[in-house]
Amino acid sequence: MRKRTVLIVDDQEINRAFLGKVLEAEYSLLYAENGHVALKCLREHANIISAIFLDIIMPDMDGYEFLREMKADRRIANIPVIVSSQLIEETDEVQALALGAQDFIAKPYKPVIIRQRLSNIIQLREQSAIVNSMQCDYLTGLYNKEFFCRQVEMVLGENPSIKYDLVFIGIERFKLINDAYGIKKGDEVLKYVADAISEFSVGRKICARFYADNFFAFGEHATYTNDFLKPFIDKIKECPVKMGIKVHCGVLENIDTSTEIARLCDLAKMAGDMNRGKYNDYFTLYSEELKTRMKNEQFILSSMHSALEQGQFQVYYQPKYDLHANAVAGAEALVRWINPEKGVMPAGEFIPIFEKNGFITELDKYVWECTCKSLRRWMDEGQPALSISINMSRADIYNPSILPFLLEITNKYRIPIQCLHLEITESAYTENPEQIIEAVHKFREAGFIVEMDDFGTGYSSLNMLSGMPIDILKLDMRFIQKEAEKASGRGIISFIISLAKWMGLVVIAEGVETEDQIEILRSMDCNYVQGYYYAKPMATEEFEHFLKESRTIEIPVGKQITNQNNICKHQRISRPENGKVMLIVDDVTINRMTLATFFEEDYLIVEKDDGLDAWEYLDKHYEKVEVVMLDLLMPVMDGFELLQKIRQDRRMKDLPVIITSQGDLGAEQKTLEMQANDYIVKPYDQYKVYQRVYNVVGNYRYQSMIAKDK
Ligand code: C2E
Ligand code: MG
Ligand code: MG
Repeated sequence: MRKRTVLIVDDQEINRAFLGKVLEAEYSLLYAENGHVALKCLREHANIISAIFLDIIMPDMDGYEFLREMKADRRIANIPVIVSSQLIEETDEVQALALGAQDFIAKPYKPVIIRQRLSNIIQLREQSAIVNSMQCDYLTGLYNKEFFCRQVEMVLGENPSIKYDLVFIGIERFKLINDAYGIKKGDEVLKYVADAISEFSVGRKICARFYADNFFAFGEHATYTNDFLKPFIDKIKECPVKMGIKVHCGVLENIDTSTEIARLCDLAKMAGDMNRGKYNDYFTLYSEELKTRMKNEQFILSSMHSALEQGQFQVYYQPKYDLHANAVAGAEALVRWINPEKGVMPAGEFIPIFEKNGFITELDKYVWECTCKSLRRWMDEGQPALSISINMSRADIYNPSILPFLLEITNKYRIPIQCLHLEITESAYTENPEQIIEAVHKFREAGFIVEMDDFGTGYSSLNMLSGMPIDILKLDMRFIQKEAEKASGRGIISFIISLAKWMGLVVIAEGVETEDQIEILRSMDCNYVQGYYYAKPMATEEFEHFLKESRTIEIPVGKQITNQNNICKHQRISRPENGKVMLIVDDVTINRMTLATFFEEDYLIVEKDDGLDAWEYLDKHYEKVEVVMLDLLMPVMDGFELLQKIRQDRRMKDLPVIITSQGDLGAEQKTLEMQANDYIVKPYDQYKVYQRVYNVVGNYRYQSMIAKDK
């Protein structure tokens, strides 16, 4: 039999030699002369060392410190240690044992005692390891599947009247973590999640890891809500992995005690699987309806590949209309699954499932290529180049193969790039604004027109919109239908449309179903609509027929707005018909002139070179003024004083005032505290100035409209 290995740690050579003599017949020996060397040796040979013989008093790192370090390292913490010391003080022994040593031997050594004690602790550890491995998952220390099921059965048997829940916890795209960072990191993540589960379940639950990232917790019934799970989810978010991790949870409430535990676990896991990819719901409850949905999902998953091969996925086209020109201004490509058993399946039934399992990218590429092929055919048949928008799932946006693919197919079918519009849903922008801006820029730089789909269903603020790299805004029908019925809603829609136009965006209202809606949109100067009122999505052939009967027109976008830094003023403008004034207060002529040229098409410009003159003007005409651009350093009355007067005057206290000054942090803070609305640093960057003024004025118009509505 292979000899077990013992590590001897002692600073005295004579002691090491003596122990060596005593043990060499039965054990392989490793030696270390101080704590540091011992720790290093232990970490290198952790899996072969059966026990440690540790002297307490050593220079550099003594035995106590060694014990502390060792016990903090999970990989080596369980190796048994016998501590030895010259001093036979009881406190030494107590301290060593408290630090996790298994035994204590006083010097001088007696060989028989040493051999016996060593053999005892090694045996003990090996036996408990066997028991442990039968109960526990080796990696996380949680129970394994068999032991968990036995424990749960026992608890259920003991307390039949109490209600219990079973919770499944899985790690989203765990395989990806292993692939991207390696197995070791993957193991660390598993341990982290296991610790979080134990911590969250403390005293209340029996926890287990069955295999891979499949965790379960069983405990007395609780009311599951997002709030209840928040501390656990927050802890998971803190997991130190660069890409961050997300868990999905499934809850089986008040479990049926007559069902086999393993089956109950399957059901909780099913619910957990339905929770994948859901960012706002921390868990999914198991229900009968869920069961039906899952069956359907199973069908979809098992037949998707063959369906793609057999051409069961087809592209439908829904026209977009130009209300003024009364002509077709493009179309949206929407996928349909024509299934021999189920008939025409709408996208909503299978797209979310494909978004979860990643098949969406394959399907999207197929849909896009079909679209390009059709576009080429139509052009060859003499149709003018029509712009078609394709839907881009959020899984596609960050996929590095997507842009090259789009360029490849547009090149292969000779499609002008601006004919392919990319629709990206609003919620993708709100989830990850910074990353998405970067990713979407690349598509726009390549020449694609980007549409923000479903605007109004997510949570983007209007301010946020101004920083988004988009060309077209699609106002969602659900939003329109709900809002258009209310007077205040109409105000908001009209405001969004005018702001979007002011930013140079084209607005398309989608999901338009009634004449009323058309009239409302027309009155708001929204040119483009898409919806059942005009046409439903049509199969390719039907759409071709339809095109031949219709007049087509282009949506004038893209040529001018490929880069927001070159924002064209004439596109951004909506000169207030009521002649709103921008009051520019600055003693330096060139500064006033610069701002005046920026805004002369948007506002009636009134210039003043001193605070006092400006105040006299405001006193009489404040109602006409929409925004004041205010320099700080001026003779007679400076900007601080004027700002203070404006804020103290009840008539003007809400009037937007933007400070224009040199970059002086103190002044910025002070004026903002005095309720200036923003601070712009000179020299002026035209784009930034537009953005800032738009942000402030936009908010102001919005607030006053809401106030009027009320
Ligand atoms: P979406 O991009 O917002 O597409 C508009 C959806 O509204 C389409 O549903 C369309 O048929 C429907 N619709 C159009 N006009 C009206 C109307 O007047 N009233 C009502 N009630 N509905 C109308 P569809 O085709 O079922 O697609 C649902 C969603 O699935 C789409 O929403 C889009 O996000 C996604 N989708 C569709 N095709 C694809 C695709 O090829 N790839 C990807 N990634 N997603 C797709
Ligand atoms: Mg769309
Ligand atoms: Mg949409």
